[in-house]
Amino acid sequence: MIDSIFVEREVLDHPVAQKIFKSLKYADIFEIERYQEMFNRRKQNFRIQKQNPALILAKKHDNFVLPAPSGFGIDAQKNYYFSHMYNCIYDCRYCFLQGMYSSANYVLFVNYEDFFEAISDTIYENTNKSMTFFSGYDCDSLAFEKITGFAEKALEFFTDFSSVELELRTKSIVSDTFLNRSPISNCVVAYSLSPSNVAAILDNKAPSIDRRINVLQKLAKNGWPVGLRFDPLIYCSGWEKLYSELINKIFKDINIDQVHSVSHGPLRYPKEMYKKITSLYPDDKLFSFPMEAKDGIVSYGKEIEEEMSSFLQSELEKYTTRNKIFRCLV
Ligand code: SF4
Repeated sequence: MIDSIFVEREVLDHPVAQKIFKSLKYADIFEIERYQEMFNRRKQNFRIQKQNPALILAKKHDNFVLPAPSGFGIDAQKNYYFSHMYNCIYDCRYCFLQGMYSSANYVLFVNYEDFFEAISDTIYENTNKSMTFFSGYDCDSLAFEKITGFAEKALEFFTDFSSVELELRTKSIVSDTFLNRSPISNCVVAYSLSPSNVAAILDNKAPSIDRRINVLQKLAKNGWPVGLRFDPLIYCSGWEKLYSELINKIFKDINIDQVHSVSHGPLRYPKEMYKKITSLYPDDKLFSFPMEAKDGIVSYGKEIEEEMSSFLQSELEKYTTRNKIFRCLV
């Protein structure tokens, strides 16, 4: 799966790096000074590199915890995110990472301990405030878990901070990390979901929707809080029926008490990012829709966004209470 590992000399002996060398024992290992030399190089082709990305092991030095963009959070007073990894093993056609990075190689920051120190500092600076920490903003939180073991460590860490929430956002069906331990009430596993046939076309390399639904229902049965994320909403022929069936399928066999929150959000991009992504896939059907550009944002336009949002809201209210449903606008 991964042929080449590039590792910063500084972290060559880090236990996480050593463990990864053992798991990926057939990969060639190359030493480098700093990951930016490779990752930020200009004139790389994300689409070509995505066919066979290398893994870069690096040390993160700053900005471990950042305020989440407004509109990303659920209902906490303070929302933060952290990214132990850049890029993802899946290849969703709408993924904003394609427009954000010039490289499709995976960067994994192996100094997990520094992330947890920064998170605990942030918690102590904000006592008496409700807080959520989001993992999976610049990657998928669990897709690479078998190699990284990061979520396992994050769960251990957040067990000691029961008054703040962790959200692990994912399309992965990794479940052992959760099923092999007792549920942790402040750790939410949040699944990104779209109608099956939409996901079959757009969520390249990601597990099917049926498999994601099976896993999230199983985790809920085992007492884990789960989040449902209908984001981005994809406008297509028959979308009302498709989303209605999807929502019905999820809720017909789920322990509703374990549904922590449900959110939905439109497909939107900053203008420059959209330009970059569409130049990678100029013939893709997703980008053939006449999108609207307004105030630096490219979207389906207010009318379609409102129509989809109202529909989702009313469908979701058939199954769960309004206070668990959130509209996200990033
Ligand atoms: S799962 Fe998320 S991070 Fe990964 S490719 Fe899809 S949209 Fe991007």
